[in-house]
Amino acid sequence: MTLIPEAKLYIDGQLRGASDGGTYDVTSPWTGETVGKAADGTADDVNEAIAAARRAFDETNWGSLENKAKRVELVTKLRDAFLENREKIHDIAVHEAGATRLNCNLAHYSMAMDGWNDYLEAFERLEWETDHGNRFSALANATSKRIAVREPVGVVAAITPWNVPLYVNIGKVVAALLAGCTVILKPAPDTPGEGAIFGELADKVGFPKGVLQVVFGEDPALAGEMLVQDKRVDLVSFTGSTAVGRHIMEQGAKTMKRVFLELGGKSAKIVLDDAPNFAMDVGSSMLIVHAGQGCAVQSRLLVPRSRYEEAKEVIKGAYGFVGDNWGDIDAQDQIMGPVINKKQHDRIMNYIKIGQEEGATLLAGGKSRPDKGGGFFIEPTCFVDVTNDMRIAQEEIFGPVLVVIPFDDDADAVRIANDSEYGLAGGVSSADFDRAMKVARAVRTGSMGINGGMAIAGDLPFGGYKHSGIGREWGLEGIEEYTEIKTIAWPVEQAEAAE
Ligand code: NAD
Repeated sequence: MTLIPEAKLYIDGQLRGASDGGTYDVTSPWTGETVGKAADGTADDVNEAIAAARRAFDETNWGSLENKAKRVELVTKLRDAFLENREKIHDIAVHEAGATRLNCNLAHYSMAMDGWNDYLEAFERLEWETDHGNRFSALANATSKRIAVREPVGVVAAITPWNVPLYVNIGKVVAALLAGCTVILKPAPDTPGEGAIFGELADKVGFPKGVLQVVFGEDPALAGEMLVQDKRVDLVSFTGSTAVGRHIMEQGAKTMKRVFLELGGKSAKIVLDDAPNFAMDVGSSMLIVHAGQGCAVQSRLLVPRSRYEEAKEVIKGAYGFVGDNWGDIDAQDQIMGPVINKKQHDRIMNYIKIGQEEGATLLAGGKSRPDKGGGFFIEPTCFVDVTNDMRIAQEEIFGPVLVVIPFDDDADAVRIANDSEYGLAGGVSSADFDRAMKVARAVRTGSMGINGGMAIAGDLPFGGYKHSGIGREWGLEGIEEYTEIKTIAWPVEQAEAAE
């Protein structure tokens, strides 16, 4: 059944199919059935997209300082078109990415659009020129006046994942366009529609040829590999798995690519023994929003050994409360649907098996539930009696699987939180603010919430420590990622004469 529009490529100002006419089927995570078609982009298509982006950057004034207001105008018009097409985009997110209707009002659409507005506001604060004062140089035997200017980095390849596609696509495309770059967006094969919508609406609002391209195909690696290796691309902004991120860094080295990576996570939520709402903090840790498919989810719950048994009871109660109230495509109030595809389903189920083999105790869930609609459903799952050296505590499962680990004291909690190759997000709860702040500062991670504080938003820089990534997306810092800095100096006498 066709439930979503055919996803078309957008190259050099043209909405079109693949050069050889090929298409592939888009599968619903809810039913496992085909819900739409997408153009199966070829190497020729990717090549053309790169050439078009290069031409638009090198031969038009898109990225110039003088064109700043025009860029804001077009990016704002595009934002408005996304707002006008809210229902259509919701439908694509539901049928393609497995978002629940409630999630569309969260990260899958509303928060993504908020982030778009945040970028437009932050852009006004970007300093294109900073004065660095005068300085005598013995080498030049002259005193120079010096400034530093920002310039767009050039052609950007934005390679994005399937979990919250609109959010990540906006995070890259909007920032790069505002900075003055030209862009090739390459969404994941599972979610071409949430990329194609950029082409469709950019075309509608009159984007200049070549400023934005959207390419995708059934092969997950073909377009990405080409974009990373092509010397005409200046910067690769990638969100996805750490394994592919590492590969991109290696491949990009050959052409000295600027590489900006948002990767995986295994973030820890630390509930200290004096947490003011212990039951609430522990009980609300279930990994159910979007079936746990979020890079910044707090998938390790750390609780004091002295209150471990109490925590288990609370968690059991919380999972019991959710019960079977998830996985209904028509429900307006559910936050958990299916996982994206069969491969992820099988991968998660394998981790559940590994957890049992490692000796952890399954406190809740653990079963595949195809009866929910034929798609890729896994029960909200929780392991207790977990030690941090187990694979289920170290590896990113990217599914609805929470692990609960006991700690002895604050130092032990910090040690466990940091005993991970990842460092993306996290949280800590305590009645003593200074104590919580000490822990928050000690965890090596890109964001920390204290007592439920939200450290992730479109106006804040977001990114990872360690293997969770390099660079920051969102906020003013997220736009600055797409700029280069150039210093310019000239003799101070000339500067004074000109004043
Ligand atoms: P993935 O790494 O398999 O794919 C991500 C993107 O890279 C897709 O567009 C894919 O087609 C492309 N790709 C695959 N192989 C490639 C190659 N050899 N060269 C270039 N591109 C290639 O990740 P996924 O399975 O789509 O997404 C899940 C992962 O993304 C999780 O690990 C999750 O933590 C991570 N993620 C991170 C963030 C963040 O901001 N840190 C956000 C969302 C998802």
